[in-house]
Amino acid sequence: MISVEQLKAGFDLSRMAGLIDRFGQIGKDPDGGVTRLAFTNKDVEARKVFLKILEKEFSLDIRIDALGNIFARRPGRHRDWPVILTGSHLDSVRNGGRYDGPAGLFSSLEAFRVLDLFDIETDHPFELCLLTAEEPNDFGISTFGSRGMAGIIKKEDVRRLMDERGNDFPSALKAVGGNMEKMDDAVRSPEEIAYFLELHIEQMPFLDSEKRDIGVVEGVTGIFRQTLILTGEADHGGTTPMDRRKDALCAASEIVLKLETAAKEEDGLAVATVGHISVFPNSINITPARVTLDMEIRSFYTDRIRRIRQKLEDRIRETEAFRKIQIERIVTYDSAPVRFSTPVKQAIAEAADRLGLKRRNLISMAGHDAAHLSRITEAGMIFIPCRAGRSHCPEEFTETSSIVKGAQCLLQALLLLDQRKRSDLPYARH
Ligand SMILES: [Zn+2]
Repeated sequence: MISVEQLKAGFDLSRMAGLIDRFGQIGKDPDGGVTRLAFTNKDVEARKVFLKILEKEFSLDIRIDALGNIFARRPGRHRDWPVILTGSHLDSVRNGGRYDGPAGLFSSLEAFRVLDLFDIETDHPFELCLLTAEEPNDFGISTFGSRGMAGIIKKEDVRRLMDERGNDFPSALKAVGGNMEKMDDAVRSPEEIAYFLELHIEQMPFLDSEKRDIGVVEGVTGIFRQTLILTGEADHGGTTPMDRRKDALCAASEIVLKLETAAKEEDGLAVATVGHISVFPNSINITPARVTLDMEIRSFYTDRIRRIRQKLEDRIRETEAFRKIQIERIVTYDSAPVRFSTPVKQAIAEAADRLGLKRRNLISMAGHDAAHLSRITEAGMIFIPCRAGRSHCPEEFTETSSIVKGAQCLLQALLLLDQRKRSDLPYARH
């Protein structure tokens, strides 16, 4: 077994900085941000560079599945045991930052390097993974690789997808080594994967402001999204008296403000946003006839989402009755909160303590691959601080030393999970 001192010494700060910098050049924007949307040339280029590093500097069994996910396997003492999986993504949002994804992927990569450095034979096989299309992209699908592995997204769901330039999804998937027709083969079962652990920048300000090193992630927020279509009447904005109007925008305003109030009443444990609004005919002297609102509610607590939805629904009914406006509700997305595996959370906490790192528990208010993989395995996440909690923007920044501390914690946690007695494991048969 590797000592804490060896484990710490195995990680190289300058190598980590070098990796972040090297990949920060691929898709670099003039303002210092990064645009490396999934399935674009820049994504393909980044994957090629990553594969080259794997091939040249490691001796791992490399495989690309039908979803374009890259897996690199390091055998364990028991070759037939389920794998311990770790990794993240390399794609970015438009004009995003250098750390969202790469910080996790390179922490996993460097953890594998330390295993090699000390010639450590683990009990389980370890697998490093690069997951395809975590972020929203031109095809409108995020967390594609993990949802495909969990069997939540099928070829029927993506067969006809096109981007704005008329590129079809099957060809785009092929460009990253995938194969839409064989997507079913990429679905993984709980018997194949013992654990999944991903390191990620926090994207919230808590670790940074409290000067802590490690966030033990409790789970991932639930998200409810709804489109509201309000139909009133278009009338002359000069000649129609105020008491005769059916103004869809005034009605929409009441609903927008009610959503804000209802979320604020949840004591910081829920958020809600109307992020998109369209008005028809959108003309200065015509009363708005139709308004479309796209809204979402997020909370780790199902009852809070339910309460906000109820308050909003009450307001919608009042508005319909009082203003004589028709309001259509279309639920576009409804995902329950995900609670991460207790053994994985315990391993992260114990790893942080052994390394003398300051930790706290956190909830992720952003979606992640680990949330989907938790359907098929014991999954968990480590958060590391990012400056002022800023992300998905060029200002996204994490100290290299913070990434390295996170990577040390990641490796220690993986080794603790590897050592859990086989009888404790969910897949144990003896
Ligand atoms: Zn990410």
